[in-house]
Amino acid sequence: MDNFKEIKSKADILNVIEQITKSKTKKQGETFNLECCPFCQHKDCFKINQKEQYFNCFSCSSKGDIHNFVQNFYQLDKYEALKKLAELTNYQLSNHSDKNPSNILIDIVEYYHKNLMTNKTLLDFQIKQRTHSIKSLKLMRVGLATGRLRTYLTKKGYSDKEQLETGLIKSKDGIYKDFFIKDVFVYPHKLSNNIYGHFTIKDHSKKFQYQLSNEYRNVECLFYNQPAFNNNEIILVEGENDVLSLMDAGFKNVIGICGQISEKQLKYLEQWVSESKEQKTIYLSFDNDDPGRTYTEKVIKLLEFDCYVDRLQKELG
Ligand SMILES: [Zn+2]
Repeated sequence: MDNFKEIKSKADILNVIEQITKSKTKKQGETFNLECCPFCQHKDCFKINQKEQYFNCFSCSSKGDIHNFVQNFYQLDKYEALKKLAELTNYQLSNHSDKNPSNILIDIVEYYHKNLMTNKTLLDFQIKQRTHSIKSLKLMRVGLATGRLRTYLTKKGYSDKEQLETGLIKSKDGIYKDFFIKDVFVYPHKLSNNIYGHFTIKDHSKKFQYQLSNEYRNVECLFYNQPAFNNNEIILVEGENDVLSLMDAGFKNVIGICGQISEKQLKYLEQWVSESKEQKTIYLSFDNDDPGRTYTEKVIKLLEFDCYVDRLQKELG
């Protein structure tokens, strides 16, 4: 769909005319009437049909769709009018053919992140209960779902297809809605080249148990904070909160496994070590409790490729 068609399908002619003329319409039967025609200034002759999305004036015979209205009202050519209409409706004009698919993910990450930064209660939860610093939350672009991603992406001009491909918008019986429910925390995951490839969530109220299906995960996106593999020393931890906590404590290159370590993750680690001429160091920093220690032993066994294992004896806090 081109920009003309798409913006027409999304913008409402009634709202736009009311906005531009700064006047209220009156409903009369099937149509909405403006007191005064914006073109001929005559009274009681200008009607808007919201259902069919067109306007006409019985006095001066001006008529047409939303594009015609903007073009005539501002005396613009077709393309200038399109730009004007896009401004008025917060529509992001796009060239679909050369659009980078990662743009939508960047927009989504920034949208979720802004939600968290502007929600005092839940930002406080991250800072006081989870004891994360604003700096780490910003660096990792931790976000918050509000259930209104669909509205945001549609306003931005992303097509239904583009939205569905992220997995973050679902459609059922022709109704589109967000996959993540309101008030879950969202953790964007990046590939080593800093492109976003996956999202995980945490629900502090424990109502929402689902994660985004792996079907939507970039196949190369395996860890949380994967760009840290660009260094020679990394610290492997269990989950997203552990990554943030160690970053808060001043550690760098902290990477989260997020769940039981997978075959793909082991393969990635093996290649990371073996395909480099430089020495690589992996620190394992799992929970200092029984399950954590068992997990450490398990991961050490799994890292059976050419690794020298050293155990730090001192137990911390
Ligand atoms: Zn008129």
